[in-house]
Amino acid sequence: MAGTVARGAARPRLVIATHSEHKRRELADLLHLEQAELLTLDDLGVADEAVEDGQTFEANARIKARLAARVTGLPSLADDSGIEVDALDGGPGVRTRRYAGPDATDAGNNAKLLAALDGLPPERRGARYVCVLALALPGDAGPRGGLPMVLRRGTCRGRIATSPRGTGGFGYDPIFEPLGEPPGGRTLGLYSAVEKHAISHRARAARAMLPVLRELGF
Ligand code: IMP
Repeated sequence: MAGTVARGAARPRLVIATHSEHKRRELADLLHLEQAELLTLDDLGVADEAVEDGQTFEANARIKARLAARVTGLPSLADDSGIEVDALDGGPGVRTRRYAGPDATDAGNNAKLLAALDGLPPERRGARYVCVLALALPGDAGPRGGLPMVLRRGTCRGRIATSPRGTGGFGYDPIFEPLGEPPGGRTLGLYSAVEKHAISHRARAARAMLPVLRELGF
């Protein structure tokens, strides 16, 4: 992988392969790559949408990172994430974003999940967030025409609340009580960004990816 980032260049450029402003901001805060220029696909005028038809977070993160690296010619970092609910056998999983339908809103997704777990006691409301980060490097194609890829995963265990509380974060945060909170305790929607970064699935994946990025010169 050495040499894929122009060492000595003024500021190495890293593409954050997401159209989600929340994810971009969280990743920028978490990675804190002072020397690098972080660009989104929108910054680069790339309108291409990845077809996220993988059956795992890893597969979808790969798809997004690979497309971004191919189109931009730059190292590209993609996030695929979601929530796995024990009582739903790990669902909605890779369908988290569109749980309530193709045009689902966060409020719609939260309402559908609360309804699905209606009446279940705290001990049957367990869930975890999962985040997989994929880093795709442009350049030499791999043996089967793929691009060199590094994957890192982070999880955050908790429980689904019985009603939404808080407006911080995004997605399912208002109904997610992290491990350590009592039933009815604070949701991630009530955590500060600093508190969320200390425990989140994305923070854990980012911490695991950081040495790889540093090694590449970011
Ligand atoms: P993706 O764009 O397919 O990775 O969608 C991930 C979805 O998972 C998001 O749209 C959110 O609904 C949910 N999600 C992922 N990470 C978080 C988080 O940190 N807080 C709340 N919801 C999240």
